[in-house]
Amino acid sequence: MAHSAAFRWDAPLSPVVRLTERCAREPQFPWRGSGCNRYSNPRRSLIVPSIFTHAVVPLILGAAAGRRCISGRLLFVGAVAAMLPDLDVAALKLGIRYQDAFGHRGATHSIAFALVLAMLAALAHPLLKSTAWRSAVFVGLAALSHPLLDMCTNGGMGVALLWPFSEHRWFSPFRPIAVSPLGVTRFVGSRGVAVMASELYWVWLPTALLSLALVVGRWIEKSNPPDQA
Ligand SMILES: [Zn+2]
Repeated sequence: MAHSAAFRWDAPLSPVVRLTERCAREPQFPWRGSGCNRYSNPRRSLIVPSIFTHAVVPLILGAAAGRRCISGRLLFVGAVAAMLPDLDVAALKLGIRYQDAFGHRGATHSIAFALVLAMLAALAHPLLKSTAWRSAVFVGLAALSHPLLDMCTNGGMGVALLWPFSEHRWFSPFRPIAVSPLGVTRFVGSRGVAVMASELYWVWLPTALLSLALVVGRWIEKSNPPDQA
């Protein structure tokens, strides 16, 4: 089956992913019914942290750093850069396979792609009301956070982090984030709740704690100005 060849799971599998694989392998299971619901259709169940979770990382951290450090425009562009890599799902509609260089989690999930976005941000820094370096670093790191989070999900294929030098798909050795269907409209029911809970715990909570540390650090700095004497 084309689906089972395209979706090779090479990591400890969650029950949902095991079900997905079973559906792909056994044509007698329709995509709906027999336990194979629309979430378990491999064409639809593209395994990602949800798109808004990707945006949350630069949004919260950038906001915690303060407007003087990260302008509102730069914050917005950073959030967009963090979501942008998943544009590659459009490739599936064009017939490009998941595991191809330009398939899902391919070229747009590479360090090279993040660097390109960083360079564009540096060029556009006057529009972003920030310095070239700050724009490049913030947007580049925001874009890079996307594949790094995808690498921590417990399903799907890894990310082509080193494209164009290598098309190998990489995973993190630690993969606690639950698989998630792509698309907000599919984010319903108990499965959606489970995925959201996983992302809240493994992504939102550490990001919020890090942001809190940033805010406290800024507050301490403000209340203890350097001695002018
Ligand atoms: Zn992704």
